[in-house]
Amino acid sequence: GPSKRKGGSEMTGEERPAIKAKPRVEKNRVLVTGGAGFVGSHLCDYLVARGDHVICMDNFFTGSKDNIAHLLDKENFELIRHDVVEPILLEVDQIFHLACPASPVHYKYNPIKTIKTSFIGTMNMLGLAKRCRARFLISSTSEVYGDPLQHPQTEEYWGNVNPIGERSCYDEGKRAAECLTMDYHREHGQEVRIVRIFNTYGPRMALDDGRVVSNFVSQALKNEPLTLFGDGKQTRSFQYVSDLVEGMVSVMDNDEHIGPFNIGNPGEFTMIELAEMVKKVVNPSAELMWMENTADDPSRRRPDITKAKTLLGWEPKIPLREGLLKMVDDFKRRLKIDEITST
Ligand code: NAD
Ligand code: UDP
Repeated sequence: GPSKRKGGSEMTGEERPAIKAKPRVEKNRVLVTGGAGFVGSHLCDYLVARGDHVICMDNFFTGSKDNIAHLLDKENFELIRHDVVEPILLEVDQIFHLACPASPVHYKYNPIKTIKTSFIGTMNMLGLAKRCRARFLISSTSEVYGDPLQHPQTEEYWGNVNPIGERSCYDEGKRAAECLTMDYHREHGQEVRIVRIFNTYGPRMALDDGRVVSNFVSQALKNEPLTLFGDGKQTRSFQYVSDLVEGMVSVMDNDEHIGPFNIGNPGEFTMIELAEMVKKVVNPSAELMWMENTADDPSRRRPDITKAKTLLGWEPKIPLREGLLKMVDDFKRRLKIDEITST
């Protein structure tokens, strides 16, 4: 109680009973939630390689042990199966909070769980960060801009999001998570960082992920038609995963700027252009198949990355064509495809 504390402070240094010194922190202890997922596993690779002590936490909803199997015997890597909707006690210095399904197919599968993960999960991780005095980074999304009326999107844009649609569990979930993050910052002085990630692709995307790049690449490899939703004229800007990891780490390690930062590649493509490029790079004989689009699909999306460029000196390096090539070997291996069988 307070009286005890007072007594303690009146003792001189010599009278003070021997207390155990706080163990010196040798390493940066970093928690990566969603660390067994696509982006999280690449982030774990980066942090383990630079010598941080990494705790990877995941409930394996969309992530997989295969993504981090090669890290399990590293002395500076730990894996915890845990759901972020439940609180947890850990001692860490930085938290990269990624846990949340990201593919529309996955986040619509159990939408109530998605928004709980986004809001309650973020609340738990902010509580943990506050207790540990750890720096907290939320992986938000370009989806906070909804079907954007401003093009390209700057961080100042407030967005155009349907609050009651099929995508809302994700979009509004992330908006609420950003809001909570800023409120912890304003109310408690919590150290926070916000990144808004634009469509990212690369090795280790789940084969059943359902996002467009992984769909097209595996369809082309299996010699199946590429599924184009809607008129195919909607646009996205695709970032290779190593560019994202470097961007996230530069935001976390920057001592001055909290964001939000758009982290994405400004190269903008229609889905028809993407399909044509996948054909060229992966399998020229692949056909196209037109399908009905999903509800509330944003019609165009491209990041304005001036802020990250100017304040962090970060910009993406890998163009789409090159990134697709890097993805193909990994997908071939996992799909157990040796050679493309032309029909
Ligand atoms: P992913 O689905 O591969 O990874 C998400 C990980 O979080 C998975 O390992 C999953 O098992 C885990 N997870 C989900 N719910 C959880 C819970 N309740 N408790 C613990 N773990 C849970 O997707 P990703 O592409 O790697 O996305 C990672 C993060 O980046 C997400 O927060 C996502 O919203 C954000 N993001 C990604 C993109 C992109 O294009 N890849 C774009 C915008 C934002
Ligand atoms: N899309 C498509 N074929 C697919 C999957 C998606 O044409 O097999 C389209 C989808 O309609 C959207 C775009 O690709 O316009 C990007 O979808 P994705 O699910 O990859 O990510 P989003 O940016 O919508 O979250």
